[in-house]
Amino acid sequence: MSLYRDEGVVLRTQKLGEADRIVTILARRTGKIRAVAKGVRRTTSRFGARLEPFTHVDLQLHTGRTLDVVTQAETIRPYGEALAADYPRYTAGTAMLETADRLTHGEKEPALRQFLLLVGGLRTLADRGHEARLVLDAYFLRSLAVAGYAPALEACAKCQAPAIRAFAIVAGGVVCGACKPAGAAVPAGETIGLMTALLRGDWATADASEQRHRSECSGLVAAYLQWHLEHGIRSLRHVEREPV
Ligand SMILES: [Zn+2]
Repeated sequence: MSLYRDEGVVLRTQKLGEADRIVTILARRTGKIRAVAKGVRRTTSRFGARLEPFTHVDLQLHTGRTLDVVTQAETIRPYGEALAADYPRYTAGTAMLETADRLTHGEKEPALRQFLLLVGGLRTLADRGHEARLVLDAYFLRSLAVAGYAPALEACAKCQAPAIRAFAIVAGGVVCGACKPAGAAVPAGETIGLMTALLRGDWATADASEQRHRSECSGLVAAYLQWHLEHGIRSLRHVEREPV
């Protein structure tokens, strides 16, 4: 039995037996961990609410044969408390946890940049300095970029031409008139400008954007994320089936 320490954000939990839970954590050094928290559903649990989703915790675990076991947990910051009272922020946070889970495939594969993006995104949401949907869209764009799916926003995704005409999810971002597939969205230039600002962390530009461009941006980002998550999971299954 070996002990290790790490810090992480609780992504989700599921019941195990009478009183235990399996806790899924995105940890700074280890990557994604699924671990058993024994007795956590008893009112007398020494873990209290520290292993609930959204909580940034400092953990000690011991390595098990199948699942590791949480032996200590100390709260670093309970983002759940800050978000619970504000429904748009809570739902944005929930979408971040789910996306972090989906974009980190293997267990114990280090994913430091995804961890840092998630902690930064939850902190920005909880601090209430920017609209929840902008924070969420910035998180989606950056976590997709870290996963290797950054959308092209400055030149045509297919031929690199600088004159942009439309946004085509399957092509990987903005496209020129010649490359534009039928049915591709034709967003306002300001909407593409907002996506660029969110991807770069340019909050001055993002906060000054108009509501209609924010709505258009959210629709495109959500569709782009959805397409890549489905595509990503399909490719992963394909890789796992290949003989080693
Ligand atoms: Zn083109």
